[in-house]
Amino acid sequence: MKEVSQAHHFKYQVASRTGGEGLLVCFSCGVCTAGCPVAEVEGGFNPRRIIHQILLGEKEELLTSKYLWMCVGCYRCTAHCPQNVEFTNILKVLREIAIEEGYVSKEWKAIIEDLDRETQKLRRNCIDYLWEKKVTSFPEYLHLYADATKELPWMREGEPDGER
Ligand code: SF4
Ligand code: SF4
Repeated sequence: MKEVSQAHHFKYQVASRTGGEGLLVCFSCGVCTAGCPVAEVEGGFNPRRIIHQILLGEKEELLTSKYLWMCVGCYRCTAHCPQNVEFTNILKVLREIAIEEGYVSKEWKAIIEDLDRETQKLRRNCIDYLWEKKVTSFPEYLHLYADATKELPWMREGEPDGER
């Protein structure tokens, strides 16, 4: 009985916040997941499943999950949702609760914001580079992209010493 009331508490905690109001009308169609660019590259990130977890009251599991921080805030899920659930904002609510209740630090939030900014810069730099090289074909792009990313320190870390 206690578990049931905790589950109820979590979903109402999320739904009562600004941005979380649409939670209870989700009918689990999966359109959000199907169109999400993050879900496309990371199978563990699944907006529909996250909503399901909220409804089931899996608070601890959700608020300690790295997947909470993978959304890039493109709002595609929100734009296509037939129920106007606004998943992007629900995720923001989860992040707020995770910080407020000490599941992650405020510094972690700053790191993610910085990462988002730096990722945009990286994308811009890649476009600059490919544009200057006048890349016109996909194989050519793959070759140049591989060369460019080899310069990134974390890409070099995994290589054997002799290949650095
Ligand atoms: S698209 Fe909307 S209704 Fe469908 S699963 Fe996602 S949030 Fe729920
Ligand atoms: S806002 Fe986040 S969850 Fe929604 S489609 Fe974009 S990356 Fe995916």
